Amino acid sequence: MAGVELIEIAKTFGADVTALRDVTLSVNDGEFVVLLGPSGCGKSTLLRIVAGLEKPTTGTVAIDGRAVNDVPGKRRDVAMVFQNYALYPQMTVAENMAFPLRIRKHPKEEVARRISEVASLLEIDELLARKPGALSGGQQQRVAMARALVRDPAVLLMDEPLSNLDARLRDQTRKEIRRLQRAAGVTTIYVTHDQAEALTMADRVVVMRDGAISQIAAPVDLYRYPTSAFVASFVGSPPRSLMAASTRRGTLAVGDASMDLDGAPPLPEVVSVAIRPDAARLVETDVPSTAGAFNLEVEVDLAEPLGSETLLEVAPIAGGAPDTANLIRVRVSGEAPRVGGRLWLEAPAGAIEIFDAGDGRLLWRGGER
Ligand code: ATP
Repeated sequence: MAGVELIEIAKTFGADVTALRDVTLSVNDGEFVVLLGPSGCGKSTLLRIVAGLEKPTTGTVAIDGRAVNDVPGKRRDVAMVFQNYALYPQMTVAENMAFPLRIRKHPKEEVARRISEVASLLEIDELLARKPGALSGGQQQRVAMARALVRDPAVLLMDEPLSNLDARLRDQTRKEIRRLQRAAGVTTIYVTHDQAEALTMADRVVVMRDGAISQIAAPVDLYRYPTSAFVASFVGSPPRSLMAASTRRGTLAVGDASMDLDGAPPLPEVVSVAIRPDAARLVETDVPSTAGAFNLEVEVDLAEPLGSETLLEVAPIAGGAPDTANLIRVRVSGEAPRVGGRLWLEAPAGAIEIFDAGDGRLLWRGGER
């Protein structure tokens, strides 16, 4: 078992592709860290650098306190599980699992013992004699994980391991991976572009964008306290929507509505505003609502009933008409309001975030002083 330190890692490919710029990250022993970000942000490159499949252009990779920049991947105590499980089709499950131990010349009895231990941990004892072609996607996934764990690696790296599975199996397998990771206590770095996967699995999520780290936080904090418009609009089910807004003389204006900016620092006149989707309430009233810190008349543009709750997109009323260029996502429990109906949206100060309209950094979270 071991921690992983990445210090000021940069990676360029050729003259003009910068995949990573100045990434510094410390993964604790036994921790499950998820690298989350849109396609092309550099997640896989960072993982491959830890695995030793790629060399950083500058910066240091350390495993268990020891710099490993010059240690080839096969001599790092690291195992990797890929998206396309890469099992050997001509070998049985047991032979696939034995392979990483055989090439390291472990004694026969030890190989048999490790296979039996890991197979029972992953509940694949029944599958040991089968070949990969005779397994379901989920079973192949488990075998790939078994093959990685059988060597008892210090660090486990997983690159989008669930993307080939259907939705139901993906849900089930992500719980399994988490359970197994805890049981094995293995330090894990896991790559995904799926924010729900990241939030449900990680001890800490590392959000990446354009080759750099945007934010590192525990899942709950990442959703509650995003530090940029990018994270706010990327994380959560649904994520926040951003609205163009203006500030003037201590007041925030969105459409026909305004909010007192009590306690806010000086703000630029043009800003982006987000309302946390689960914190807003929608009420039917004939008179303008004054119950929230921020009250906004809205028209329901879209309703997606999910059974116990409904995801809505509502348009703020501006100059008497719905502003559909500034839709706001809201999650409400119970019955879905009628599309086209007008309601009042009430939000507490703490559900309002104001971001810089240019670089997207958080300028103020409502209620904070
Ligand atoms: P995805 O989710 O699509 O896999 P990612 O976040 O994992 O994306 P990377 O695969 O790390 O992104 O790629 C980061 C950037 O580096 C991209 O612009 C990619 O095109 C570029 N890149 C990656 N590998 C190479 C390579 N071998 N040669 C040139 N450019 C590369």
